[in-house]
Amino acid sequence: KELSSAEIRSMFLKFFESKGHSIEPSKSLVPVDDPTLLWINSGVATLKKYFDGSVVPNNRRITNAQKSIRTNDIENVGHTARHHTLFEMMGNFSIGDYFKEDAIPWAWELLTSPEWYAMDPEKLYITVYPEDTEAKEIWLKTGVPASHIFDVADNFWDIGQGPSGPDSEIFYDRGEEFLDIPADDPENYPGGENERYLEIWNIVFSQFNHTPENTYEELPHKNIDTGMGLERVVSVFQNAKTNFETDLFMPIIKKAEELGDGVKYGDSPITDISFKVIADHARAVTFAISDSALPSNEGRGYVIRRLLRRAVLHGRKLGINGAFLTQLVPVVGHIMESYYPEVLANAEYIESVVLAEEKRFNETLSDGLKMLNDVIANVKSSDSDVIAGKVAFKLYDTYGFPYELTEEYADDEGLKVDRAGFDAEMQAQRERARAARSDAKSMGVQNPLLTDLHTESKYVGWTTEIVEDAQLADIIVDN
Ligand code: ATP
Ligand code: MG
Ligand code: MG
Ligand code: MG
Repeated sequence: KELSSAEIRSMFLKFFESKGHSIEPSKSLVPVDDPTLLWINSGVATLKKYFDGSVVPNNRRITNAQKSIRTNDIENVGHTARHHTLFEMMGNFSIGDYFKEDAIPWAWELLTSPEWYAMDPEKLYITVYPEDTEAKEIWLKTGVPASHIFDVADNFWDIGQGPSGPDSEIFYDRGEEFLDIPADDPENYPGGENERYLEIWNIVFSQFNHTPENTYEELPHKNIDTGMGLERVVSVFQNAKTNFETDLFMPIIKKAEELGDGVKYGDSPITDISFKVIADHARAVTFAISDSALPSNEGRGYVIRRLLRRAVLHGRKLGINGAFLTQLVPVVGHIMESYYPEVLANAEYIESVVLAEEKRFNETLSDGLKMLNDVIANVKSSDSDVIAGKVAFKLYDTYGFPYELTEEYADDEGLKVDRAGFDAEMQAQRERARAARSDAKSMGVQNPLLTDLHTESKYVGWTTEIVEDAQLADIIVDN
């Protein structure tokens, strides 16, 4: 049966409410009191205070649908059927309450019961951690045939220290026609890296404490932490080839079609990538700004800037000129209105931030693209396949091209970028900035405010270290 994304989300929450869970609202994408995390990147991320015991919830059973951003998936967007930067993770959580004996049959009931998701059990596959015979037994008892259960050694959730444990993941078989690797490839199984078996749900059984001495001790109060990707489940219900041909993305894609030079979604795989990137990044940028983050040169702000600029470049590929992302903001707001009314309510503000940022990039974009295309042509006609670090740096420093964008463009043309050379240029510029600072001092400018002003007006570009640290944090906490 064809359900809307809003119905699919609310069914999940209602199901777990019927099992005694309290529904928690979707929290801000900007983490509160959590310096280890750049963005909320999973449902459990907003519930850490319950899992680490610092706050005891009124109800130890919680369910939510949490907006999340994963920067480690930026490059996947547009290229896989299933990855987004902003997505919603639906989850059920037990804070030292129920454990595997309940979590597993409930998951199966929600997925297959005719009253709930009514998915065909034949299409569902389960992976378990090989040593977790307990989970396997419960899946079998719940009615999953052994032929649909796979051992996967990676199925262990561990962040180095603290709560950890095995997990079970649930895959939906989209059919042979989606297999994107040779049938005899070792990755061709549920749990492998392929586009046929779609991972829809991860159920973590957090039952150990990983001690500083590197041992695993059974926790006295075991927890359940699960995450189901809304967009992926919607793609299953709406019979979509990818997450994008669903009610969550198509209105954005349609609007982008209107703004372009006549190219339509579906015309070619290359232009489809651009439509997908635009639709995905428009959502992420809109939601991030709605949650009070702003484009800037570092940390969270750099992520917004990078996403926005990547979307603008893909817009150019579709013949969309001038500021256009700003026009996608209300489209995103309407799609998400039933669960996130605040986005539409904030639309005017979000549009103004996006517009200013687009204008800023558009000022140098044509010159930057011209330089990039010239460089690509030059490198191609030489016997090298590497774009010099100096060039990437100029694109970045003068034309506002985030390094990763140049790299992506180069990659499309079969070229590489000299990262070490780029880093050296960046370093040299920092040193120049430092020298300018001490010059200013030696020139007798005593007022530190004035010295600061002097260095600040000298554009020092993006601080990539900060972004890399933050991405690392994202990955570390990425369950
Ligand atoms: P994948 O292997 O497909 O990258 P994952 O194993 O990294 O997914 P988990 O960390 O287990 O994902 O997150 C739980 C669920 O959240 C996944 O099963 C999936 O449904 C969803 N999910 C994870 N990352 C994304 C993403 N970038 N875009 C959309 N949904 C996602
Ligand atoms: Mg992943
Ligand atoms: Mg996975
Ligand atoms: Mg997973």
